[in-house]
Amino acid sequence: MNIIIFGPPGAGKGTQSNFIVKKYNIFQISTGKILREEIKNKTEIGQKIYSLMSSGSLVEDKIVNKLIEDIVSNKKYENGFIFDGYPRNLDQVNNLGNLLNKYNQKIDIVLKLSVSLETIKKRISERQLLEKRPDDNEEIAIKRYKTYEKSTEPVIEFYKTLNLLKVIDGERSIDQINKEISDIITLI
Ligand code: AMP
Repeated sequence: MNIIIFGPPGAGKGTQSNFIVKKYNIFQISTGKILREEIKNKTEIGQKIYSLMSSGSLVEDKIVNKLIEDIVSNKKYENGFIFDGYPRNLDQVNNLGNLLNKYNQKIDIVLKLSVSLETIKKRISERQLLEKRPDDNEEIAIKRYKTYEKSTEPVIEFYKTLNLLKVIDGERSIDQINKEISDIITLI
């Protein structure tokens, strides 16, 4: 089973992905995480992408696509994936389609966690009171939210035309969202 999950920073994508990975015994592919590891391990790729990533720009499709193929082609992961942070543009959509075809797989469902900007702001101010996380700056968060929504729009529209898209109301409790996702997956 292969799932793609979309949702702006603060929508609870990580929490829901962890739940899906455990419950359905599939693997998470988070391109952001994979790329950060490359930098941390000072690999050849890590050195190439360091400055791009630091400035918040997207890493070249060629690099990301190659990393994805290395994982998708590995028999160890044949149970399937939840893709988080990928695909980010229509070229990546195409590449993922071709790749899954090559390995006799397909996308089963695309989830979009929908959360308003007001809710994201509220979550951040609550977290600041509790944890004082230095990266939880409201201004940065608003910018990231808007960029995310804008850049993923064509990708999400594409999956909508394939009838694969399920929009989940991310304003509710973690448990309620868990339950809705389980119900959707049961119907696949
Ligand atoms: P994320 O953790 O998904 O917010 O990604 C963090 C950073 O990793 C992004 O700002 C990009 O520089 C890079 N990145 C993550 N996923 C991709 C992708 N699919 N294509 C290109 N760059 C990506």
